[in-house]
Amino acid sequence: MSLKYCQGPKCYQYKTKDRIRGMKGSKTYQTRRRSSFYYGGDNFCSLNCQNDWFNKYGDLAIDHFGRTTEAKHLTQDNAWVKDYDWDYSGSGSTRTNWRFVNGLTKEQRPLTREQYNDKSYTLNTGE
Ligand SMILES: [Zn+2]
Repeated sequence: MSLKYCQGPKCYQYKTKDRIRGMKGSKTYQTRRRSSFYYGGDNFCSLNCQNDWFNKYGDLAIDHFGRTTEAKHLTQDNAWVKDYDWDYSGSGSTRTNWRFVNGLTKEQRPLTREQYNDKSYTLNTGE
């Protein structure tokens, strides 16, 4: 189990007891280090740290990956989402009835479990 640091640029500035680390006589508040984090895709120890990151780097990140400059449109060509039902007939519950559902037309099309799990598999065309 490897440890990683919270990516919050000001994490060490939040003075909580669990952030105090170091040898006696040279203890400091330090960036939190954990095996996993709850926020921001497992990168931040708190919403505060996630927000600090966005406040500092958000504009740069948006410009880097592409700023939305015009409205996107939901049409029947890009409204497909994957769905499934729960089957409680056996012991416990299993997923069943994998399908595409069109969020606009409500049309349904069958889907295999493998296709459901394949994040790149979609019926959507365009964005
Ligand atoms: Zn943090």
